[in-house]
Amino acid sequence: MAVSAANFACLGVILVMTEFMLNAELFWSHVHKSDGCWEWTGARTKKGYGVFGRTGVKCRTIKAHRAAFLITHGHLPVYVLHRCDNPPCVRPDHLYEGACQ
Ligand SMILES: [Zn+2]
Repeated sequence: MAVSAANFACLGVILVMTEFMLNAELFWSHVHKSDGCWEWTGARTKKGYGVFGRTGVKCRTIKAHRAAFLITHGHLPVYVLHRCDNPPCVRPDHLYEGACQ
């Protein structure tokens, strides 16, 4: 897995990324899958993005759509964007790696 430390505001995230990849089953158990968007059913940020991990512990959480991308593709780009403009959606084929905005 090629991971650039520069992608992260906090190095603890690298450690936790590995943990998240091993927790894929747990992750998907928090997702409501439908024909359209797959919505995150766990904790959310004020903007509506899903949050996965140990909420309340600094640097031990990741946005759910970023975790979905990581678990699916094995790497985490700087930006993971939604094709569907639905913040809680974590469906891998609704997500894409974005350039700087
Ligand atoms: Zn979607």
